[in-house]
Amino acid sequence: MSADWAVAGLDVGGTTINATVLDSGGRFLVTGMAETPSRVADGPDKTIEALARALDAVLVRTGISRSAVRAVGLDTPGPVTADGVISSKGATNFASPPWRGFDVRRALEARLDCQVIFNNDANAAALYAHYQHFGAARARDRSSVSVIVGTGLGGGIVESGQVIRGAAGMAGELGHIWVPMEGLLAPDQPVPACICGLVGDAESVASLTGIEKNLLPYWLKQFPEHPLAKEEPAAAARLVRRYGEDGDPLALRIFEQQAMAIGRLLTVAANFTDPHVYLIGGGLVEAAEHFRDLFLGRVREHTALRAEQAEIESIALVPDLDMAGARGSAIAARDAVLVRRG
Ligand SMILES: [Zn+2]
Repeated sequence: MSADWAVAGLDVGGTTINATVLDSGGRFLVTGMAETPSRVADGPDKTIEALARALDAVLVRTGISRSAVRAVGLDTPGPVTADGVISSKGATNFASPPWRGFDVRRALEARLDCQVIFNNDANAAALYAHYQHFGAARARDRSSVSVIVGTGLGGGIVESGQVIRGAAGMAGELGHIWVPMEGLLAPDQPVPACICGLVGDAESVASLTGIEKNLLPYWLKQFPEHPLAKEEPAAAARLVRRYGEDGDPLALRIFEQQAMAIGRLLTVAANFTDPHVYLIGGGLVEAAEHFRDLFLGRVREHTALRAEQAEIESIALVPDLDMAGARGSAIAARDAVLVRRG
């Protein structure tokens, strides 16, 4: 390990911190998950201490001295500002009152006496997906739009290797972009609502929550004898993918609607930032290969690229997103050090 300097990445979730170390040459020094409790429920002070300890622990594990660390990347779930201030209205994962309006980036910087670079978790994941797809050598000349289908629909926009954060930190909220519902919904299907308050946005269809709250209730009425009708809604939503892999008609209708919503969302992206690649990640990546390919093919068919775009742009899956938040945060920290050094 001849690294003259390094950066760390710290990903804070509601229950765990995931930590990694990236050396000056762009190599990750942690292969598995380095997880510790985040103590978010105990309030900001305890979490800042937990972050400092997680950093110490991952440095011991990788044999990097604290003095070699030039910057620390940090990410948290939103809603949070571009500078790392938790929403004044609170956030799902940071619910207790002391977290409201808390400047987690600045507090960690003060505790560590080291520059802290902040991104929200979706943007950090998008940055990692971008680097993983292009490789470090090409990442800085390329652009991407990432769509991560999970409980919600997370996203991120990377331009010339840099995350587009936006003035208020709200750029890349792709799940809450309206997509046309004409031709997507069945004639008697209610327009899906999203927890953000919009109706007919991408997340209202293309997310696990969208399946549970919107798609499954409608399609189970069309297939009243379906075995999923006997399951609790949340459990049933999680099982839809397995049925899809087996070619089940109800599940295929649901995934067709999701593919259409994502394709229409990517069509918006094509007219907005016109990226080199559209990256799709999330639970779907773990699906059986034949089903994954089928789904990706349907997304491609529903994405309207112009001939000039289709020649140079592609739609691809991003595997291995477990470490994405910590790794993307570390990449952002390394970039900040490189920029500082000119
Ligand atoms: Zn929404």
